[in-house]
Amino acid sequence: MKTTTIEQLVPGTVALVGIPWDENSSHARGAAVAPPRIREALCSDSSNLCAEDGTDLADERRFVDIGDMPMLETGEAAAETIRSAVDSVLGHGARCLALGGDHAVTYPILSAYAKHHADLTILHVDAHPDLYDSFDGNRLSHASPFARIMEDGLARRLVQVGIRTINPHQREQAERFGVEVFEMRRWHEGLDLDLSGRVYVSIDLDGLDPAFAPGVAHPEPGGLSTRDVVGLVQSIQGLVIGADVVEYNPDRDVGDLTARVAAKLVKELAARMLPGE
Ligand code: MN
Ligand code: MN
Repeated sequence: MKTTTIEQLVPGTVALVGIPWDENSSHARGAAVAPPRIREALCSDSSNLCAEDGTDLADERRFVDIGDMPMLETGEAAAETIRSAVDSVLGHGARCLALGGDHAVTYPILSAYAKHHADLTILHVDAHPDLYDSFDGNRLSHASPFARIMEDGLARRLVQVGIRTINPHQREQAERFGVEVFEMRRWHEGLDLDLSGRVYVSIDLDGLDPAFAPGVAHPEPGGLSTRDVVGLVQSIQGLVIGADVVEYNPDRDVGDLTARVAAKLVKELAARMLPGE
């Protein structure tokens, strides 16, 4: 995997970037240390860098690692650091594949994306809708990014999969914003999500069942399998122009299992994000 800097990015590359930011986690912090652990799993000799469609990311010059963002600030200033770094990646004609951090990273990422891409469809995999107007008085909370994204009109469609904790407030929010919520209780294989056009994929690892991905702060039984999520990514008909994999918490992991799941999803996402020849 080639490493480079934002300044050296060329159009058509997929840039892997870590965002070590977890100050907006409501329950347990720890996601900030995730990016290097996911990279380790990605580059481990126990596997290779091949996606299932045969794309070998080890040989792919257009897949590069630009390292972790330096998160020197907190609060709104930290969000601005993320926004401006992603804006710069997109300004170079590259696509951003971000490693969280907690789910709060997705709002500043999408703020930058909306400047470059209109009419986005977001595929959001999560146990939680993350639509709280605010959580514990925090509007930047990792439980609120999709409320901010929809308020700001940063996406045309928000399609949620894996949801199994929706409460009355968040159901109201989902109705208010026209969110397409595919609740876990109605999940079945081959569900048609009609993911066409420009698609941004945001994967909270707690969308998977804790049996597959135990290393998260909010494990919620009754979730998706690794195969379900890999299949979802592979089934997107549209153009995947950006993605994030968030909420990996190494403190809660068992035998690096969740890091490996995150790495697997990174490979599948990267293969889908590389522009066709
Ligand atoms: Mn989330
Ligand atoms: Mn979640």
